[in-house]
Amino acid sequence: MSTATLFNESLSPASGRGAHSGPPPVRRIVIVGGGTAGWMTALLFARSLIERGVEITVLESPAVATIGVGEGSTPWLRGFFDSLGIEEAQWMPACHATYKCGITFDRWSTRPGFERYFHPFASMLDNLTMKQFVHNVDARVNGADVHAHPDRFFIAARLAAACRAPKAPESFPFDVWHGYHFDAVLLGQFLHEKAVARGVRYHSCHVTQANLAADGSIASVSTREGETIAAELFVDCTGFAGLLMEKALRTPYVSFSSNLFNDAAVALPSPLGAEIPSETVSTAMRHGWAWKIPLTSRYGNGYVYSSGHCTRDEAETELRRHLGLLDADVEARHLKMRVGRLARHWNRNCLAVGLAQGFIEPLEATALLFIQQTASSFLEFLEKGDLGEEAHQRFNERVNAHFEGTRDYIVTHYKTNTRTDTEYWRANAANMNLSEPLQQLYALWMSGKGIAAAVGQQALGKGYPVFSWYAIMAGMGIFPDPGQLHAPNAREGVYRMAEIDDLLERSAGNFPDHRTALQAIAPRRARPSLQVYFF
Ligand SMILES: Cc1cc2nc3c(=O)[nH]c(=O)nc-3n(C[C@H](O)[C@H](O)[C@H](O)COP(=O)(O)OP(=O)(O)OC[C@H]3O[C@@H](n4cnc5c(N)ncnc54)[C@H](O)[C@@H]3O)c2cc1C
Repeated sequence: MSTATLFNESLSPASGRGAHSGPPPVRRIVIVGGGTAGWMTALLFARSLIERGVEITVLESPAVATIGVGEGSTPWLRGFFDSLGIEEAQWMPACHATYKCGITFDRWSTRPGFERYFHPFASMLDNLTMKQFVHNVDARVNGADVHAHPDRFFIAARLAAACRAPKAPESFPFDVWHGYHFDAVLLGQFLHEKAVARGVRYHSCHVTQANLAADGSIASVSTREGETIAAELFVDCTGFAGLLMEKALRTPYVSFSSNLFNDAAVALPSPLGAEIPSETVSTAMRHGWAWKIPLTSRYGNGYVYSSGHCTRDEAETELRRHLGLLDADVEARHLKMRVGRLARHWNRNCLAVGLAQGFIEPLEATALLFIQQTASSFLEFLEKGDLGEEAHQRFNERVNAHFEGTRDYIVTHYKTNTRTDTEYWRANAANMNLSEPLQQLYALWMSGKGIAAAVGQQALGKGYPVFSWYAIMAGMGIFPDPGQLHAPNAREGVYRMAEIDDLLERSAGNFPDHRTALQAIAPRRARPSLQVYFF
């Protein structure tokens, strides 16, 4: 099965290759917003545009803080740094970053044997066991009593369970793909410094309005400081404020609240123990779920919940109890979130990136991936000078398909839950606001015919690869009840778990302890002083 390989091969953004040598189609780009979205976009654009004479400026309000959360990534972040030539040794220590093998989902299902499972990042090594996993899952859906829990089949699950780093020695023939955990504020500062060092201009000012040209595009923005700043292209990275796309251009917003109920979060740090895990843990709570993210300096914790089902005080108390911090003198941060997406992410001469373009709650930590893909994908059009109506349409369809496919994957976590302890979980399980492709996928799963082809053909595959769909359905235990299972026949029971265990255990033994691996990353050299450009 090639899903893992395909997933890994497409990690580096395609942009930057085949850039046109003619004059760039725009000369001045203004990015409004200096959060992670603003700086990631600036860096990706700077890579190929600055040398072609394009001026890129980030405007950031001194009065509006960045969201300051968002501490987990997918493996795509590795492609982001690789494409910019930024080594782990440079950015990881600066951002208190750790390695992430995947996510454990704890207490989402009450099905015996499936109360907990790990969603791994797929790796080259998994090509050796992926076929066995899919075979066993398909056999079990069809009633054979074979082992089909994902945790036994993936190297990443073994590494995470043993607090090992997904960094193999040079002599090991397989790369194990991984994401990262990091301090969101430090990452923002790091990206800011890097972008400015690479020629991006920075201007601290509060944008008060966008001034439209006769054709409805944005001609300039006005600031509280009394300036008018013009550009040919604007990027809205103003977070949930949606200043340019929504407020100025009145781009419609498509809410996902009918199938993703969570709209608030409360966050709290807690101290690290002796070991540093190499996974995020997502624990189902009474009205949502709690994240636990290990950094080199602390744990980041938070509870993402539905304010329609519990109050902020109830959420904070439940999180504190969960962490053993009921009486601790540590302050909690409360946040509101809006879950959904813009109808168009590129509208006239404006692109929206980050929370300004949409957000699918942080359960699978996909937001930075959306930033990266939106900015890289747009850059392909920009580099080709392909800025017409048809290009807008193709781009928006591509980004929307990614949003919809990812949304459906996240919805599956909730839809397949079997908790009955609160109205929140019962409402999630009963919710029939499901997309057509998702309904078809569930029907196909239950029919026992296998879902690989369907995922590949539909928007579902734009969000998550086939193996992830298998991992979630199997991990949640969507199989016939144990009493209905039959002893496997020779074909169904062809794979021996002892052989798979042996292969993976021997492989895992090559990987270092996570804390030791992090300590081996060279400390960052002295920080260069921050260059600030003013108009
Ligand atoms: C609870 C929670 C958990 C999350 N967890 C994850 C995770 O694990 N992984 C992940 O990938 N993502 C996660 N995210 C999402 C992630 O935090 C964001 O996608 C990321 O930080 C990018 O944010 P942003 O830059 O779009 O917006 P922000 O950080 O909100 O930045 C907005 C910027 O716009 C500027 N601005 C606003 N108004 C003006 C104005 N009028 N004039 C000038 N500038 C202005 C602000 O000063 C700021 O610089 C999480 C989000 C939430 C809410």
